[in-house]
Amino acid sequence: MAFRERGDDDLSQDEVFRRYRTLIDHLPLVVYLDELDSISSNIFTSRQIEPILGFSVEEWATDSELFSRLLHPEDRERVLAAHVHTHETHEPLSLEYRLIARDGRVVWLRDEGVVVFDEHQSPVYLQGYLLDITREREAEQQLRQLALYDPLTGLANRAFFHERLRHAIKLRHDEGHATGLLYLDLDDFKGINDRWGHDLGDEVLHEIGRRIERSMRPGDTAARLGGDEFAIVLTEPVTPDDAVGVAERLLAEIGKPLDSGSGPLYATASIGIAFGSDDETLLREADIAMYRAKGHPEVGYAFFDSQLDRVALERSQRIVELREGIARGEFRLDYQAVVDLEHNRIQGYEALVRWEHPTAGELPPGEFIPLAEETGLIVGLGEWVLTEACTEAVRLCQLHGRPIHMSVNVSARQLHHSDFLRHVTRALDSSALMPSLLTLELTESTLLSSNERVARTLERIKALGVVLALDDFGTGYASLSYLRQFPIDVVKIDRSFTANADSKDGDLVLLKGIIDLGHALELNLVAEGIETPEQHTIVRKLGCQQAQGFYFGRPTHPAQRDLDCIPRV
Ligand code: C2E
Ligand code: MG
Ligand code: MG
Repeated sequence: MAFRERGDDDLSQDEVFRRYRTLIDHLPLVVYLDELDSISSNIFTSRQIEPILGFSVEEWATDSELFSRLLHPEDRERVLAAHVHTHETHEPLSLEYRLIARDGRVVWLRDEGVVVFDEHQSPVYLQGYLLDITREREAEQQLRQLALYDPLTGLANRAFFHERLRHAIKLRHDEGHATGLLYLDLDDFKGINDRWGHDLGDEVLHEIGRRIERSMRPGDTAARLGGDEFAIVLTEPVTPDDAVGVAERLLAEIGKPLDSGSGPLYATASIGIAFGSDDETLLREADIAMYRAKGHPEVGYAFFDSQLDRVALERSQRIVELREGIARGEFRLDYQAVVDLEHNRIQGYEALVRWEHPTAGELPPGEFIPLAEETGLIVGLGEWVLTEACTEAVRLCQLHGRPIHMSVNVSARQLHHSDFLRHVTRALDSSALMPSLLTLELTESTLLSSNERVARTLERIKALGVVLALDDFGTGYASLSYLRQFPIDVVKIDRSFTANADSKDGDLVLLKGIIDLGHALELNLVAEGIETPEQHTIVRKLGCQQAQGFYFGRPTHPAQRDLDCIPRV
């Protein structure tokens, strides 16, 4: 009966089965024949079904209700409805569903069936195959878990959270409501990590994740945004009082003692609350409010307040612009000549970065370098500066027809980055600049924060032939120990010592002291901030080898200047 449409009319059902048994028994799937009755009673099922579900083919053949009994409760209605549809319309059946195996396992099956007709075009039965897709489904589930959830806490990850937040905002917005967001940050989590170790730190985060989940209202979504930062989007319409209720519950749960293995450990958190209808703005405002909450540990939470948080909001806006500006290439380098005082000619240039801000106009480094340092964006920006400056140096060497040095400012964050040495070698390689023509300017505060690894990096950079300079000498901690501790070749004397050298005797004495010391240590000295012919004369007479300042030229693009036009004494 099974294969009658192939023209084997004279074959008995047994003969058909015998012929095709081998094939059917070796297919990596289950072949079946079902009645077109209301419960799809089974006529035949191939043996592969046994290891999959733990029921013998005999059980399938004798127990006409087995199939519908094994259907997963969540799938039962859908699957039976699909069968009814196929029975009525004779359209193919194509489904994925779960059956519960004899030992309780959940088995995912793909079921593809077609209605077979006899020679009179009457439907006779349903013929199809079942494929065990449990492994694929589990792998998919795992991938989904990895892509959407934070592995440590099981909460939504940042990407998934953004999706949920946008969805919640849209729902609330359509109903004319704002969405509430809580931004939660553990207080001094670094202290827990430092004191108890990272493994315990991870356990704390895991437990905090559970407590957050426990404190939420049904329907709200919590996420771990990274580190010790969490966010909760309040999906149901809420008043500020409701939000406070959630915040207080969270703080109370988190504040309960944690088990450290050797006595109780207490964690506290700060929560920022914001309402709005734009996901980025909401997150930013709740984050800002959270920082204000840190200042009021007795309360533990704070609402975003556009008046109180104006400065913080502007700063956070600038960070966004900075990130975009770097991606869009809104930065430019100006170059200020460094003059060789003995030969009265340009010895090199210092590269100084400027931001061509789309609305605020040109911004000096003082307005964005500190922010870039705090956020770590300086690493990418600094690498661009290095490459650009080295490339320009090669062009300037050709323009001047002699070796021209290039000085590049380096911040602490860059120096500490594990890729810094690579950034330097890459810039040198891509530009083909001789390493001895590159000077890296470091400040005293940069060196103050250095450690053994940084010291090794500096040694290796030095070994390439690159020159190291101590910038703004005298403004920082002015510890002479740096000069011996690090392989410094050049000291740039800060403008504060040269600015008044031509007017006050006291400053002159200090300047002379620094220069004499530099000579004793066999360092190259650069006087910064020379603005007048008098200052020029003084630093030259005191024995500075080089100088830099508005008197010789403002930072600009060298193509715009007359290359060797330096004021003479
Ligand atoms: P700096 O390295 O000490 O650079 C010298 C600064 O003094 C420059 O300011 C320059 O325009 C200014 N200057 C030069 N001659 C005179 C003068 O005769 N009188 C006066 N009043 N000022 C003079 P700028 O360009 O605003 O840069 C400020 C600082 O920003 C730099 O100080 C440097 O620390 C930092 N910076 C600049 N570019 C970069 C960069 O690419 N990376 C990093 N990390 N920092 C940079
Ligand atoms: Mg400098
Ligand atoms: Mg300086």
